[in-house]
Amino acid sequence: MTSPTPHPDAPDDGATAHQRTALNALRAFLVDLDGVIYTGNTAIDGAAAFLRYLNETGRKFQCITNNSTQTAAQFAAKLAAMGMPVTPDQVLTSSQATATYLRTRLGTGARIMAIGEEGLVRALMECGLKLALRSPDAVVVGLDRRLTYERLTAACFAVRAGVPFIATNPDLSLPTEQGFLPGNGAALASIQAATGVAPVVIGKPEAAMLEIAMGRLGTSRDETAIIGDGLHTDVLAGRRAGVTPILVLTGVSRRHDVAPSLHQPDYVFDNLPAVQRAMLGR
Ligand SMILES: [Mg+2]
Repeated sequence: MTSPTPHPDAPDDGATAHQRTALNALRAFLVDLDGVIYTGNTAIDGAAAFLRYLNETGRKFQCITNNSTQTAAQFAAKLAAMGMPVTPDQVLTSSQATATYLRTRLGTGARIMAIGEEGLVRALMECGLKLALRSPDAVVVGLDRRLTYERLTAACFAVRAGVPFIATNPDLSLPTEQGFLPGNGAALASIQAATGVAPVVIGKPEAAMLEIAMGRLGTSRDETAIIGDGLHTDVLAGRRAGVTPILVLTGVSRRHDVAPSLHQPDYVFDNLPAVQRAMLGR
């Protein structure tokens, strides 16, 4: 890592020539979705233009999301409806990353006890893994908004018996129009409390999903950046994976959150158009 670290309170147009050169040398971008590309169902200004700019300048990208409930095709359709030039293979969900991890560790045909929704079930099947209600090779937990006590009990029995306990993502709560709903992390906490076993987490802020995204793109960490809106998720994951973390201020983290944070981005920009201007040297 040789990227310079600007003062976190520096304005967007305060990037030095050296920083612009380092930004411009990046070949691959791991782009978070919620808070960067869209907010809920509304596209963020300049996001489509930024992705087109990456395409036009020969940069590769993957849209990465901790959301485990939907498939990549569903995300790509949502993005296409917003005018984003994104294909399903340019989307990596935490469910797909988890399925890829399991296939690598356990081989195709491994038996998976899955708590989760369509996005997780389809990702497991696409990786050649089998769903199992008993005697699994791994227990995988993603957000399941129909989770029952019976399913929780089965997962706890398996985890207590020593079966690997894997989580798509650790998000504790989900911001919605109704307020904060319990996230997957709340279900994980319940299994951990009942069994004394902590899960292996694949999604952000862990590095695994970023490494799988880089594997898809065929790029090295030195030439790859993550663009996200969260210091504790995207920036931390970027640091752990050894890629360049770029924070944009269109989502959860604010400029005044940066200085006190343990997780420092290499760059802070107001939004994606500001990233694009800096890459263009304007
Ligand atoms: Mg986000």
